[in-house]
Amino acid sequence: MEVHCTVQNCQWWDDNYCTAKSILITSDEIGASLPESYDYPDTQSIVDQFGETSVGSCEATCCKTFRDKGTP
Ligand code: SF4
Repeated sequence: MEVHCTVQNCQWWDDNYCTAKSILITSDEIGASLPESYDYPDTQSIVDQFGETSVGSCEATCCKTFRDKGTP
């Protein structure tokens, strides 16, 4: 699957494509409550902690795999 993305300051971004092997998408609400370090290996623990999520629109989702290019 191709993931198209416009977040050019993410370290996985390459010319409007995501090059990460996996990404974790969750709701904005859950994403905001978790540390930046949470990512796709933690998917099951997030489900265990919060349950499966639903949102009302695409605007309510976030990519937890985002890492700023400037982050070491
Ligand atoms: S990890 Fe998320 S924010 Fe970063 S390029 Fe991929 S889809 Fe975009």
